[in-house]
Amino acid sequence: MSGGDKLDFEIRPNPAPVSAADRAALLANPGFGRVFTDHMVTIRYADGKGWYDARVEARAPIPMDPAAAVLHYAQEIFEGLKAYRTGDGGVTLFRPEANAARFVASARRLAMPELPPATFVESLRQLVEIDRDWVPEDDDGSLYLRPFMFASEVFLGVRPANEYLYAVIASPAGAYFTGGVKPITVWVSPDYTRAAPGGTGAAKCGGNYAASLVAQAEAIEAGCDQVVFLDAVERRFVDELGGMNVFFVYDDNTLVTPPLTGTILPGITRDAVLTLAAESGHRVAERPVSFADWQADAASGRLREVFACGTAAVITPIGGVRFPDGEFLVGGGEPGRFTMALRQQLVDIQRGRAEDRHGWVQ
Ligand code: PMP
Repeated sequence: MSGGDKLDFEIRPNPAPVSAADRAALLANPGFGRVFTDHMVTIRYADGKGWYDARVEARAPIPMDPAAAVLHYAQEIFEGLKAYRTGDGGVTLFRPEANAARFVASARRLAMPELPPATFVESLRQLVEIDRDWVPEDDDGSLYLRPFMFASEVFLGVRPANEYLYAVIASPAGAYFTGGVKPITVWVSPDYTRAAPGGTGAAKCGGNYAASLVAQAEAIEAGCDQVVFLDAVERRFVDELGGMNVFFVYDDNTLVTPPLTGTILPGITRDAVLTLAAESGHRVAERPVSFADWQADAASGRLREVFACGTAAVITPIGGVRFPDGEFLVGGGEPGRFTMALRQQLVDIQRGRAEDRHGWVQ
């Protein structure tokens, strides 16, 4: 397919879907990432042929040659977004074009073919449509969509592959927080960094997450929920968390988040927060924040609130910070007022309960 052509999806419904009773039982307590819907989307790519064989089919294992390039050189990218049930029984997606654009940017960085954004969004629509009974009805649930693409060419040479598989799977997710939003404690990694200038930090590629696991494990060992990565050059400035962007709220009504200099993921929630905060009269700034300032400003009280944001938990207050030499609290370890109000505002937009002035919801 060349750029503007439309790809038709062949629909092959799953002949043996999960029964309604079994589905209801699974949806009662889906957790995260373990329960999957009946279908998946697949689209193939080959050099010279372009994108072809777009299908909606029964979710099933993907046969793979042991020499498939992805298994050796990790040429793989992915996205993550959620479908939400609205009050009137409809289903919405939050800014899927933004995920499509980031998928294109990730593909470029990993020397992979670019999936046209319209095809990306259509693939999500197709899967949500056929599996819409899997979108949880409760207020806190959602259907997590996972589009991904990997090098399927059977070849051990180190170069961009010339065959790829794009796929989308879906997984119902329960409430991220049960029993109310709880502030998390974060671990500032002294040993590991996530992304260096010129590296793949701004791309959503599997390799970034593989490299973060040992630091995340260290965070858990230290009794924390998430790791905070500092910049790889000076080990001074805050980059982001293992799977979320970070915001600092100061007593002069200023909201600060690290700039997009190529070492952090340009979060779609981050972008929405910048927009909403500016609209509500806050000063917003994208500038570096050092760990030393984080500590000093939390101690002086100038720093009122710190929160993390991302698709999974929307907005999560950060109450405590640990590092090898000690620990400190932000805002007394309690969820901040601004953080919680912003969280509510964003959740209401995502679930169709508040006016969507930016055309973010589809
Ligand atoms: N940073 C990292 C490393 C992430 O994995 C994510 C989750 N995609 C985010 C930030 C937040 O991005 P988004 O708001 O688009 O979910």
